[in-house]
Amino acid sequence: MLKKTVLQKFDKELFKNSVIYNVKTLYRKTLEEATQQQIFQAVAYAIKDVIVDNWMNTQKEYAKQDPKTVYYLSMEFLMGRALGNNLINLQAYNDVAEALEDLGIDINLVEDQEPDPALGNGGLGRLAACFLDSLTTMGYSAYGCGIRYRYGMFKQEIRDGYQIEVPDNWLADGNPFELRRPEYAKEVKFGGYVNVYVDENGRNNFKQEGYQSVKAIPYDMPIVGYGNGIVNTLRIWDAEPVECFQLESFDKGDYQKAVEQENLARNIVEVLYPNDNHYAGKELRLKQQYFFISASVQEAVEKYMRKHDDIRKFHEKVTFQLNDTHPTVAIAELMRILMDDYYLTWDEAWAVTTKTCAYTNHTIMAEALEKWPIELFSRLLPRIYQIVEEINRRFIAQVSQQYPGDQNKIAKMAIIYDGQVKMAHLAIVSGYSVNGVARLHTEILEKQELRDFYEMMPEKFNNKTNGITQRRFLLHGNPLLAQWVTDHVGNDWITDLSKISGLKIYAEDEKAQQEFMNIKYQNKVRLARYILEHNGVEVDPRSIFDVQVKRLHEYKRQLLNILHIMYLYNELKNNLQLEFYPRTFIFGAKAAAGYRNAKLTIKLINAVADVVNNDPSIGGKIKVVFIEDYKVSNAEWIFAAADVSEQISTASKEASGTGNMKFMLNGALTLGTMDGANVEIVEEVGMENTFIFGLSSDEVIRFENYGGYNPMDIFNNDPDIRRVLMQLINGTFAPYDTELFRPLYNSLLNTQSTSKADMYFILKDFKPYAEAQRRVEAAYRDEANWAKSAILNVACSGKFSSDRTIQEYVDDIWHLDKVVLPKRVEKPKAK
Ligand code: PLP
Repeated sequence: MLKKTVLQKFDKELFKNSVIYNVKTLYRKTLEEATQQQIFQAVAYAIKDVIVDNWMNTQKEYAKQDPKTVYYLSMEFLMGRALGNNLINLQAYNDVAEALEDLGIDINLVEDQEPDPALGNGGLGRLAACFLDSLTTMGYSAYGCGIRYRYGMFKQEIRDGYQIEVPDNWLADGNPFELRRPEYAKEVKFGGYVNVYVDENGRNNFKQEGYQSVKAIPYDMPIVGYGNGIVNTLRIWDAEPVECFQLESFDKGDYQKAVEQENLARNIVEVLYPNDNHYAGKELRLKQQYFFISASVQEAVEKYMRKHDDIRKFHEKVTFQLNDTHPTVAIAELMRILMDDYYLTWDEAWAVTTKTCAYTNHTIMAEALEKWPIELFSRLLPRIYQIVEEINRRFIAQVSQQYPGDQNKIAKMAIIYDGQVKMAHLAIVSGYSVNGVARLHTEILEKQELRDFYEMMPEKFNNKTNGITQRRFLLHGNPLLAQWVTDHVGNDWITDLSKISGLKIYAEDEKAQQEFMNIKYQNKVRLARYILEHNGVEVDPRSIFDVQVKRLHEYKRQLLNILHIMYLYNELKNNLQLEFYPRTFIFGAKAAAGYRNAKLTIKLINAVADVVNNDPSIGGKIKVVFIEDYKVSNAEWIFAAADVSEQISTASKEASGTGNMKFMLNGALTLGTMDGANVEIVEEVGMENTFIFGLSSDEVIRFENYGGYNPMDIFNNDPDIRRVLMQLINGTFAPYDTELFRPLYNSLLNTQSTSKADMYFILKDFKPYAEAQRRVEAAYRDEANWAKSAILNVACSGKFSSDRTIQEYVDDIWHLDKVVLPKRVEKPKAK
């Protein structure tokens, strides 16, 4: 690479030369000969060169200032593309766009060459990515620790209306932003047995023997802070066999073991499990968890010990945040290292561990709670299991002491019970903090799901309402609106989103309203072009863009949305003169590969789209579009173009949601239930600027606990609903297979299905939803008032910045030190 210096002041000529040089040395080509992908790589390497200087400088400063560091432990990091975001945070996006233009290159095309690193499923993984952006921008020392899956979230293709999963070989062209760090490799051990040796001091030493092991190799990706020169690290672990295959093993009879170790290494990081909010209980998944946790915890301890000498004070400099229960083995792994490698007593190790680990709960849904069979857990992680057993033994003793004779408490609270290891219980008992991710969710945890734990240890419980980074989801994703915001309130909102409230005074300003609606229109045109290119469907940007994009899950109720579209279509067909404001219903959603009803809902959406989009009698008043392969990069465009944000989960089921916040920030109005963070969105922007409907969480929980809801009553008494449901089984949308959608019909009405009928209260909420949709239409007809509400949504989104969330984690949980880099003196440039 060309030797050059930091991008403190952007040097256009140097950058252009660097791109040309990179194309030459990487590909032996001139710029004119290079492919788009090669140009992307060359640009990325030129930018990485700049980032690495800042990265080294930051790490040097951390070494000097020795701030407390958070390790955000997460199975998922849904980062999205790095190039554009890095340029935004380096404050070099426009300069680089101009420099590329000089070279005859369109920056959008270059950005489009980058695969989305999709090492996550949905909200949980994207939250981790937003947190890293905020931590770095706010000057906190942090590592994200995760897995370098060879295949990330599958790519979704729609064929004949069905979802097809295509492997996401995101590393095929190499990842220019990562650095392999073999010097920090770690050995991770699986299986075998534990032997006890008594040492010269009469102490028991536990040793795992007869195990198989894997070498964990870290790859570091830079996380660039906005405008502050700070670069933190996302460290994702790859697996390699411990030794190369040795022929001599064959003779020694170790051949089988050598092959097994090689296979273990090959399989362990092969693929991300594509389940969102669902626990599958697969052995390989537990291996993945221990693999990245053991490596991360080992490295955290070693890094600490390189600078400090008293392991008993580890928690003063390090904290582990467990993103859901997936990384919970970190608790036992830290205990193991402290006791077996550093010879701390149980009590000493426990004192450190319980001040180091903190747990974030992301869901109350039973099917998402991780419970491992004892047989599997103890076979795979024999030493870890011993430690969990002892934590459990001591905890049960404590429960028995506090609630004498109450066997029921033990049954409900034990970590190991009924042949299973309950990871949430382990995390709560052994951590110093338990947080929910929105106020309502935390209240439900305290009052319902985790009530026994809350009563016993209330001081651990706290709420941290999720947030999103405005740098990616406004500044990068919606440059027109970002510029408009800056023109009205200055640019402080980029690092302090509360400043965006300055827009409130423009909500009723006619000129501002027109400008806002014009920007929204241009973003709709951009999305319409994308839809035409990718889906071949023409949509009218003057119609209402009504959007539901998120993972496909029954509790998120895409089915309610599409059933309502069927109802609207019936209404229009009944009366072609019906006053009806043209509406484009946009869906985007991946379904877990094995989730039958979710996949069938995708088929239903596409089947309805086929009929409705091709029925000339309704004059194009309804269009239905399913955007293939919903992911972070197209999400940015979708949020920017939305008028209506569909957040219609069954109340109590969506812990927070973060998509809801991204829509709000981009001026879409929420059509939703009082669930998750919707409650707080309504609180910030006012009920009058949202469309709220449906059962409350208390009502849902009451029905769940005491019964009293029978969807068949609704079916029998409401002809509109009955008609829509009959259309699922009479061939209206599947003329060649009238039974195709029977499972969806059954899930709503029929107790033939294994679960309860209409578990997610779709029929109960149907008419209130239809009524809320009528309010949406009436509101949209009044353009000035709509614009006012939309501007107010943007203006009131300040609370939902992940900067606010991170500051709350820092103040209440982590207690990190803020790092400020000393101003660097710029050396005069050599001629
Ligand atoms: N998937 C992607 C690609 C996203 O950008 C988001 C946004 O937050 C989500 C999933 C989560 O969406 P929701 O909070 O609506 O479930």
